[in-house]
Amino acid sequence: MPATRCEFCVAPPHQEVAVLKWRGDERERLTIKLCGKHHTRIAKAGQKGWEHNDFRWKIGFW
Ligand SMILES: [Zn+2]
Repeated sequence: MPATRCEFCVAPPHQEVAVLKWRGDERERLTIKLCGKHHTRIAKAGQKGWEHNDFRWKIGFW
């Protein structure tokens, strides 16, 4: 098993989550690993998304 960590920090991942990453008209559908803290953070941001590194992220592909 390769060592894994959260997409956004060094914490061990809590779960794999399907997310939509977008910026303007750019859309990317990804499955990323998230720690509990970042999963909560993105989930709380809801439809408007969580802003990180010029991109927005939300749970789910739509
Ligand atoms: Zn994290």
